[in-house]
Amino acid sequence: MSFDLLLSPLAFLEHMLGSVPHRQVMEEYVSWWEREGRAISWAVDQSGTPWLRMFDRFGRRTDEILFPPEYWRMLKKGYHAGVVWRAFEENSLLPSYLLGYITAFYDTGLYCPYIVSLSTAAPLDKYGDEALKARFLPMLLRKDESVWQGATWMTEAGGGSDLGAYVETIARPNGDHWLLSGEKYFASNAGAELAVVAARLQGAPQNVRGLGLFLLPRWREDGELNYHIRRIKDKIGTRSVPTGEVELKDSLAYLLGRPEWGIYLILEVLNLSRVANSIGSVALAQRALAEALIFAQERVAFGKPILEHPLLKRQLEQRFEELKRAFALAWEALVLLDQVWRETPRYSDDYHLFRLVAHLAKYWTAELAVQSAKWNMEVHGGMGVLAEFDAERWLREAMILPIWEGTPHRQILDGLEVMERKGAHRLLFQRLATHAHPQELEEVASKVEAHLALPQERKEAEAEELFRELAFFTSKTLANRR
Ligand SMILES: Cc1cc2nc3c(=O)[nH]c(=O)nc-3n(C[C@H](O)[C@H](O)[C@H](O)COP(=O)(O)OP(=O)(O)OC[C@H]3O[C@@H](n4cnc5c(N)ncnc54)[C@H](O)[C@@H]3O)c2cc1C
Repeated sequence: MSFDLLLSPLAFLEHMLGSVPHRQVMEEYVSWWEREGRAISWAVDQSGTPWLRMFDRFGRRTDEILFPPEYWRMLKKGYHAGVVWRAFEENSLLPSYLLGYITAFYDTGLYCPYIVSLSTAAPLDKYGDEALKARFLPMLLRKDESVWQGATWMTEAGGGSDLGAYVETIARPNGDHWLLSGEKYFASNAGAELAVVAARLQGAPQNVRGLGLFLLPRWREDGELNYHIRRIKDKIGTRSVPTGEVELKDSLAYLLGRPEWGIYLILEVLNLSRVANSIGSVALAQRALAEALIFAQERVAFGKPILEHPLLKRQLEQRFEELKRAFALAWEALVLLDQVWRETPRYSDDYHLFRLVAHLAKYWTAELAVQSAKWNMEVHGGMGVLAEFDAERWLREAMILPIWEGTPHRQILDGLEVMERKGAHRLLFQRLATHAHPQELEEVASKVEAHLALPQERKEAEAEELFRELAFFTSKTLANRR
């Protein structure tokens, strides 16, 4: 098979999927990136952290993020193409995530605003009352420049993995709405017109059951800011999304869903972004391999292009196969998500199966992105570490993918939990049965059962090896199915 497939996100998607919906839209989106987007994305990354202008000349608080106009043009391109509105208009997540794949191939960080906007619209649509939906949802679904953005803010300074312990933002009831006070320490897409925010209901217990999910507008009805951005964080990558620290002081917000459902809604938000992270990670891995290919075809050592040296060629072949397997796993997570994203608690078995596959995909693909970006740097040799070329950027971008939306530990431990409590591994094995080698399937299945029977301490301590094996087996079986 030709390596040339690596060079285009659309060619790769078509190869993997047979055909891609809205081909013309996707093609136009790709050609915009080739014509203009690449250069804008490069400049945004190189200019580093944008300025935060907290006050205007007259001393009024404004909290403006000072990206150049080209940034906003690049950002609006994806909204226009349909990263958010298509999910609702077409009642399917697939076109949105395909646009996400293309976005992430060119600029992984830019996929973040899109997915957090979708992850704001989804719970609003599902759990908002009619008045709230009528007021805010159309803003997020606009197709022109005036589209509103969303954001998903859960993490506080004490830690993001253990939200039950560390969310200290308090929500107090106040008539038909709530008032939120606290601080969000990692707030991506700061400046968004709407955010969904985790907060503890006043008087609720200090665990995950005490959390609710709230819709928070940027502006109050009197035109004042409803939240403040304290600063924009200096990050190694994903500079095309501003990540801020956000202060809430009696900030007006609306509770989504029933109070006792809060943690489920938070997990539903994470479901959307974890699958996006998986799709985006594969796209970044493809980009890294594409860059390695381009370099290896031209760079000459020992009398011939380095790609023609057997060792390097074999590495690229193997990595290409890995990429295809990882895509199959991420795509499976997406297909399952598409079936269950409208569900509300109590969930079906399909939902539990989805959760396991999503944990496997998030874990596996993010690591693939890091390894692919690292290898691309190695292929570039010394050129790879220079800030004036691209290779070092993909590694910086990749390093964020395993961490946000839940670290690898979280994916492994939550994956164990859904196997233990919901038997999700059995559902997975049933799904894979027609395509897996029977003996291999039996071996993996009995390994998982034996692992789940271990004492708690060992079960956790030895979980990564099992999870890695399960992810590899699942991705391989899914890739063979095609
Ligand atoms: C660029 C960027 C943007 C972000 N944007 C957002 C955002 O918009 N909204 C938002 O809510 N969050 C956001 N985050 C936060 C992100 O979700 C958290 O960083 C992540 O969930 C991990 O939380 P933490 O950083 O507090 O690490 P901690 O939770 O403190 O964890 C530290 C380490 O301990 C490990 N650990 C924790 N518990 C266990 C355990 N039981 N067993 C083994 N190991 C364990 C973790 O896996 C991790 O390796 C962002 C993060 C980054 C880097």
